[in-house]
Amino acid sequence: MSDLRLDPLTGRWVVIAGERAQRPSDFLPRRLPVEDDPLRPCPFCPDTKPALPPILELPGPNGKWAVRVLPNLYPAFSGSEPMVVSHLGPLFTQAPASGAHEVIVLSDRHDVSWADLTPGESALITAAIKARMLEHAESPGLRYSQAVVNSGREAGASVEHPHGQLLSMPFIPGEAAHELAGFARFQGNCLLCATVDAEEEAGQRIVHSDDSVMTIAPFWSGTPYEMLLIPRRHETHLHDASDDDLAGVAAAVARALSAMRSSVGDVAYNIMFHSAPFRTRSEFHWHVHVIPKISTRGGFEMGSGVFINVTPPERATRDLRSAIAANA
Ligand SMILES: [Zn+2]
Ligand SMILES: [Zn+2]
Ligand SMILES: [Zn+2]
Repeated sequence: MSDLRLDPLTGRWVVIAGERAQRPSDFLPRRLPVEDDPLRPCPFCPDTKPALPPILELPGPNGKWAVRVLPNLYPAFSGSEPMVVSHLGPLFTQAPASGAHEVIVLSDRHDVSWADLTPGESALITAAIKARMLEHAESPGLRYSQAVVNSGREAGASVEHPHGQLLSMPFIPGEAAHELAGFARFQGNCLLCATVDAEEEAGQRIVHSDDSVMTIAPFWSGTPYEMLLIPRRHETHLHDASDDDLAGVAAAVARALSAMRSSVGDVAYNIMFHSAPFRTRSEFHWHVHVIPKISTRGGFEMGSGVFINVTPPERATRDLRSAIAANA
């Protein structure tokens, strides 16, 4: 079982998860796919019997699973112990890392990327995320769910087969707290509804736009080619969004990834789904960040939290838009 420890300098919780170091690929040399080891078949391919029973399976057109959710074998968060904080003196604050940690296998095919999935296949991914978040939202001990997709070793993926993760925790993490504070600071109705209007007005950072979603290279981009997908229908929580809107966002993720691949090559990337904490009354508008791993954080970025972005988002938008036009 992992521990939560509070960093008193930043007020952020850290998970100490010693058991996760036993994961198959951890600390192996880079660029050596784990599946190339014949003794270790891909844990997410349909031929491999999962070590633990699947939590959810969504069938594709052939009736077999196309997206499935498995328990993470090396969970960072597990169990349902209540979040009782112990103070071991004035500096050492600790709590059990209870919660849930699930793997979302994005496709039954090993050699695809979300960029290659059809809108129908993509929609199964967001449907699985919604179904799992709905269930976690019902659990009184859980406060927040973080859905992510890491692709490529540089982005933290330990297995090549396309997969994401859902981590549900008993506290509101620092990044969500920061964004909630941003919504609260904004002088107006909703920060992201206003962003959609403002970007429509400005017209130079819209990568893609349709009835359900707007994809932009944000004005405030800290990373080259980063994208923000804002659903047009205002919902606080992802799990309250309609299936149609989720399908629209899922297709836009595939389009964004494919445009990114055409613009900057087959790079590693992270996708982060942000939805409000459970049972909150605060203003929020769920959204998705797509961030290519093409610049590393140096000491300045880590020391100051200030990003230096060498590609203005207006230029990134032009590249991504021409990629989408060429792919169409
Ligand atoms: Zn596989
Ligand atoms: Zn809104
Ligand atoms: Zn966000």
